[in-house]
Amino acid sequence: MKKKALFLALFILLLACTDNPKKNNEINLYSQRHYEVDKMQYRNFEELTGIKVNVIKANADELIERMKNEGENSPADLFITVDVGKLFQASEMGLLQKITIPSLSEKVSKDLMDKNGFWVPITYRSRIIVYSNKRVDVSELSTYEDLANEKWKGRILVRSSSNAYNQALMSSIVANLGTEVSTNWSEGIVKNFARDPKGSDRDQVKAIAAGQGDVAIVNSYYIGLLLSSEKEEELNAGKSISVFFPNQSPDERGSHINVSGVGLAKNSPNKENAIKLVNYLISEEAQKNYVSNSFEYSVNPNIKPDAIVQKWGEFKRDTLDLNLLGKYRQEAIRIFDKTGWK
Ligand code: FE
Repeated sequence: MKKKALFLALFILLLACTDNPKKNNEINLYSQRHYEVDKMQYRNFEELTGIKVNVIKANADELIERMKNEGENSPADLFITVDVGKLFQASEMGLLQKITIPSLSEKVSKDLMDKNGFWVPITYRSRIIVYSNKRVDVSELSTYEDLANEKWKGRILVRSSSNAYNQALMSSIVANLGTEVSTNWSEGIVKNFARDPKGSDRDQVKAIAAGQGDVAIVNSYYIGLLLSSEKEEELNAGKSISVFFPNQSPDERGSHINVSGVGLAKNSPNKENAIKLVNYLISEEAQKNYVSNSFEYSVNPNIKPDAIVQKWGEFKRDTLDLNLLGKYRQEAIRIFDKTGWK
């Protein structure tokens, strides 16, 4: 009888020690993305694979700090950002491992890929100029650099320099034109502000609609979101402006773009599942969901933008090595501080 009890105890102990296979059928996502479409993507993936997606949402700096502190015990499998600079930073800090996706170059445009192999782009977006239909004629617009011209005095709306989208734009200008030109540009922009920087990209468009300024620098998909909004205020804001892609002439570099991308965490405990999710997010199905719900551009050149976005026409993108947006970030921040771009 005693022997039987001992066997039973051993058996229970053995069960407890064996990994429950269900426990590992999950994936932990540290994500900076903040769009409705993401929930749909993860739900579709869960239904397709039975792998549960746990999302921890915070800003990129918080997520980087968290991964750093968790070290080898970090539960993070994937790190998703809306700015390639933060992926570059995470890779430089040793928080990511190289990620191999078979035939990636067949699904993703080459200039959007990481030359070092640490991250995979899932969408891209351009930081564009939008202008008041009432107070600006399109012939007045040309380049980002031109916005520093006196003719825009008191007319420019843009959010704070603490925002990653602006830091990436400034990094691209530093990478393309150098520190001196970038500093002069920033000074000119600050002189032309319609008001002190505040609010989100969407708020800048609303401010144009309210007559507080004439041109704004914003991410392209926010215009799609405004134009498809059920809120009248947002819809009217979207209708009050037009989209302009800067730096398009043949001798120009093209409009600044940034990618939303994903990196594989250094100590990913569910690596196989993580790679499955990355593959899913760059699949045709998921890419179509992105373009039609968040109005971002697909990384797959064969997938057309949403009808709303197509109306703006095609544009030439700046094909700068995207890792430079991370490399020059500190320089960009220094220029913002020096020139008083709050
Ligand atoms: Fe955004």
